[in-house]
Amino acid sequence: MDFSFTHEQEKLRVDIGEFLENNLTSEYKNVLYDVAGVGVSKEFTKMLAKNGWIGMQWPESYGGAGMGIMEYVIYREEMVMRGAPIGYHLTAENQMAPSIIINGTDEQKQRIIPSIAKGEMSICIGYSEPNTGSDLASLQTRADEDGDDFIINGVKTWNSGAIHSELIWLAARTNHDVPKHKGITVFLVELDSPGITIDPIQNMARIGGFSNITFDNVRVPKSNIVGELDQGWYVVAQNLDFERSGIERVASNYSIIYDFLEYIKTHSNNTRNNVGNSLVRNRIADMFIEVEVGRYLAYNIAWMQSKGLVPNKEASISKVFGAETTKRNSQAMLEILGMYGGVDYTSHYSPIQGKVLRSWYGGISSTIAAGTSEIQRNIIAMRGLGLPRT
Ligand SMILES: Cc1cc2nc3c(=O)[nH]c(=O)nc-3n(C[C@H](O)[C@H](O)[C@H](O)COP(=O)(O)OP(=O)(O)OC[C@H]3O[C@@H](n4cnc5c(N)ncnc54)[C@H](O)[C@@H]3O)c2cc1C
Repeated sequence: MDFSFTHEQEKLRVDIGEFLENNLTSEYKNVLYDVAGVGVSKEFTKMLAKNGWIGMQWPESYGGAGMGIMEYVIYREEMVMRGAPIGYHLTAENQMAPSIIINGTDEQKQRIIPSIAKGEMSICIGYSEPNTGSDLASLQTRADEDGDDFIINGVKTWNSGAIHSELIWLAARTNHDVPKHKGITVFLVELDSPGITIDPIQNMARIGGFSNITFDNVRVPKSNIVGELDQGWYVVAQNLDFERSGIERVASNYSIIYDFLEYIKTHSNNTRNNVGNSLVRNRIADMFIEVEVGRYLAYNIAWMQSKGLVPNKEASISKVFGAETTKRNSQAMLEILGMYGGVDYTSHYSPIQGKVLRSWYGGISSTIAAGTSEIQRNIIAMRGLGLPRT
């Protein structure tokens, strides 16, 4: 692996940095992130769209810039590291548009891709259910054929972003008489369709963004199927592959650590958490070591993908390390901040708008979202080390 970036890639990083210097005002920077770990601002997304910063990795024929995976990783890293609220469009840009480009119909492509590029469409993911998470193929939400439509009934849960999304990318069971992986179909469903109820769930950190979504006889035209009937498992697997570097997990650490450092440089008022204390300094240095390691694990995945290699155990290693780094770092920052660190973010006594406390809570979520640490460790053990399936 070559660890250096090309001249053009370094230039891209500088260009993004300059754009953000000029446009990422404190109003946008202080948008608090939601359960998905990045702030959501439709206004900021629209500004990015206006300046041509959305869809840079898509083919030019779809309005993208045809840039490579490494360039796209640099873009996301810079955005998240500097605290840009890109949560409105991220999933649609990163996972859904590439999936639709490969599996969608011409009508779906024409209807959806330009809207994402204009910053006017957010798409959330409807996979998990009350009794389905790690074992996704066991999902029970059903879609039954009725003339030119399917009728959807069931419940999706732990959904990030339905409250600001226009569409949900929904996996539903369309065939009950075949092995569980073989009877699933993916649908694009308008979230304002009759029969859909979105109930927001607030997590223990009082961070919003989660929802429970109930489908009660929701009518969806067959033309909204993505890929082939009953073949949704392959569409889902490919969809999850689109972004595996997970650069946001470590990049978001940088944004908080920089704010934290600024804060403690000016607010450390006792010997315990003074930046001159060597224990404190060493702990801060450890945080940097971890985020740098996480960053290179994420780059390695993007590099493998750019060479046509399929990251497998590498993606799991990066996921576990990135999520658990966030947990360790926020724990270290909380301890250094002392009693103030635990003050709720709604209080003006809370240091840096409670970002450290939120990151501590977020670190826990991050070990669950997109495949739990236990599942990732299973993958590393089986596919990385050749251990038998339990
Ligand atoms: C912040 C966040 C955002 C999310 N956003 C979305 C979203 O937008 N859309 C969506 O569809 N879902 C979303 N999810 C749901 C997420 O995908 C699931 O929570 C996750 O896949 C785990 O499923 P579960 O909660 O049902 O836990 P379960 O699968 O029931 O697991 C419970 C526990 O058992 C362990 N376990 C399960 N199977 C095994 C095994 N084989 N070996 C060892 N241990 C095992 C797990 O690690 C876990 O500790 C989100 C979750 C979080 C935390």
